[in-house]
Amino acid sequence: MLIAGNWKMHKGPREAAAFCRALRDAALPDDVDVVVCPAYVSLEAAVQVLADTEIGVFAQNCHWEREGAFTGEVSATMLREVGVYGTLVGHSERRQLFGETDESVAARVRTALAEGLHVIACVGETLAEREAGETDAVIRRQVGVLEHDENLVIAYEPVWAIGTGRTATVEMAREAHETIKALLDVPVLYGGSVKPDNAADLLAQPGVDGALVGGASLDVDSFAAICRAASREV
Ligand code: PEP
Repeated sequence: MLIAGNWKMHKGPREAAAFCRALRDAALPDDVDVVVCPAYVSLEAAVQVLADTEIGVFAQNCHWEREGAFTGEVSATMLREVGVYGTLVGHSERRQLFGETDESVAARVRTALAEGLHVIACVGETLAEREAGETDAVIRRQVGVLEHDENLVIAYEPVWAIGTGRTATVEMAREAHETIKALLDVPVLYGGSVKPDNAADLLAQPGVDGALVGGASLDVDSFAAICRAASREV
């Protein structure tokens, strides 16, 4: 099981360091891989605090070129230099608000993997796509541009469930995860309003290999509770 916390545009370096100190001291289960995804400016602080732990630090995106005239972007090479372990790519906020396409997502994923980063690539349908019966086609299109890699994980995040308090039913999650796994043999996380009180049910579904958590990852106690809900230890 893998539980990743996407902090989005929250927590500058000081707050990130304090959070990571508290997470380091929290009782986290040994059988769950735990990852935090701070904003770029807070990555180094998180890497320093978590250096001697098993908790991974991921960025929230990275560019497809190693360097160049790409104002405002950050490369996988730079992320490696600050000790980052992996990166999210293709989050729905990147696709919807910043014009990311399946092709740019695939290019970012390819370079990140080639540079030695682990990648969580995000896919998922909008509400309009689900209501139009296009969920399966959207997932196939978004996953179809990616290639198998042992360091690649997919996060299935129905866009209508992100930050809304609505979660996919366990059947919807299971169906989407089955579709993804039939296309690519990689671990698949569920994301979309995962909270301490619904995590155990979602994570118990076959084919659900963990969770990508937004809002509920901003508080140490709630994030640690989700990590514990993912544990199979008795
Ligand atoms: C996310 O940002 O990836 C996410 C799933 O957010 P939330 O948990 O807040 O829905």
